[in-house]
Amino acid sequence: MPDIAIVGAGISGLHLALRLQQAGVSTTVYAERSTEDTAAGRPLGLPVRFGRTRQRERELGVSHWEGAENDTAGVNLVARGEPDIRFLGRLDEPGSGVDLRLYLPRLTADYLERGGRFEVLRPDVAEIDRVSRDHDLVVVAGGRSATTGLFPRDPDRSPYSAPQRILTAGLFHGIAPTDPGYIHFQVSEAGEIFSTRFLTANGPVHGIVVEAQPGGPLEQLASYDHSGDPAGFEKTLLSLVAEHAPELRERISDSEFALHRPGDVIQGGLTPTVRRSWATLDSGRVALALGDAWIVNDPLTGQGANLGSRCAFELAELIVGGEPFDAAFAERAAERLWRIAEPVVAWSNLNIGPPVEHLGAIFVTATGDQRVADAFVTNFNYPDKMWEVVKSAEATQAWLAEVTEAG
Ligand SMILES: Cc1cc2nc3c(=O)[nH]c(=O)nc-3n(C[C@H](O)[C@H](O)[C@H](O)COP(=O)(O)OP(=O)(O)OC[C@H]3O[C@@H](n4cnc5c(N)ncnc54)[C@H](O)[C@@H]3O)c2cc1C
Repeated sequence: MPDIAIVGAGISGLHLALRLQQAGVSTTVYAERSTEDTAAGRPLGLPVRFGRTRQRERELGVSHWEGAENDTAGVNLVARGEPDIRFLGRLDEPGSGVDLRLYLPRLTADYLERGGRFEVLRPDVAEIDRVSRDHDLVVVAGGRSATTGLFPRDPDRSPYSAPQRILTAGLFHGIAPTDPGYIHFQVSEAGEIFSTRFLTANGPVHGIVVEAQPGGPLEQLASYDHSGDPAGFEKTLLSLVAEHAPELRERISDSEFALHRPGDVIQGGLTPTVRRSWATLDSGRVALALGDAWIVNDPLTGQGANLGSRCAFELAELIVGGEPFDAAFAERAAERLWRIAEPVVAWSNLNIGPPVEHLGAIFVTATGDQRVADAFVTNFNYPDKMWEVVKSAEATQAWLAEVTEAG
């Protein structure tokens, strides 16, 4: 049986480690931080895990957060204008929001209880090369900040060279939950604001993600010194939410609204990037990129963690019986994983580009037709199908006819 090094203990690395463990493959997870440091640190992202990711968690035996109180039943999309867009589409199976600082240490504990090995290492290429000598293959799942230089940007698959939105995201007390829980998703000319419930180690709170159009009024949040002036940051955020997402503002209590923990904020823009998916290390071993280390999408479509998990399962299947782990294996893996990732990248990049008329047509139809609202929102769980629907005006038209004629 092969022996695999997995660099990075995020959802991508851990789903791969747990899956390979189930297949009896020896793995070591190398992480930049101990689980205690992850639990005490800043949020990494605010991922909603959709139904198919949750199904994989059940298969892995790590579905620790099954209660409906953590579930996300759908998406409430609101865009004020002419015409007014407003629909609540239901997912076919609920998603879930769990703070990664609770989620990742728990999955690491599962992995260790089942005999996994976990080591903390310095996050640089020399260290990856050093540990690679003790393994047959290295999978680098070190996330978007793992700019190890190992995997250069692939310009053919990366149409943007700068962030298309400037992000500010945080976890907050003082937002009234909805019943059932859903993602509130507000679209305006200034950008998008979305919010949903997240379970943290201290109980449920709400995440707010502000996706500012560059140069617009929401962008100021991304450079606000929230650590130096948390009260000012909260006040500014509240007034911008009141103006650009009034339905969300109505659920926020003035007296209770506050950051969940000091510093619980993510700020900055993400440039959507697809990297080369493999490299040969000085040791001669192949290193494959997985998750955000390979592809970073803007979080608007909520796919990064879901894609990382999906690719982890696919890669595990390739690794079992896939030896030798040479360039031919790497090319095979690259091709198989790109088949999964391509529609996710295409859909995410379409969404953050200039407004697309046929996407607008879906929203307008969904406002008056629950079947369209449900079918559209359910496709967040099936990004390949979503891309088939939104890839052209003709595809959208055909899909709308199919959904509305199905009765
Ligand atoms: C505001 C926001 C909202 C989001 N919303 C969603 C959503 O709704 N749905 C969704 O699916 N996704 C969402 N995402 C994206 C999602 O969070 C990421 O795609 C996902 O967490 C990436 O997982 P990963 O395991 O690939 O990387 P990471 O979670 O970044 O984990 C990588 C780990 O490796 C460590 N590391 C880095 N370098 C090294 C090294 N050299 N050696 C060892 N360890 C290293 C890092 O410290 C980290 O712990 C969102 C992201 C943001 C910012």
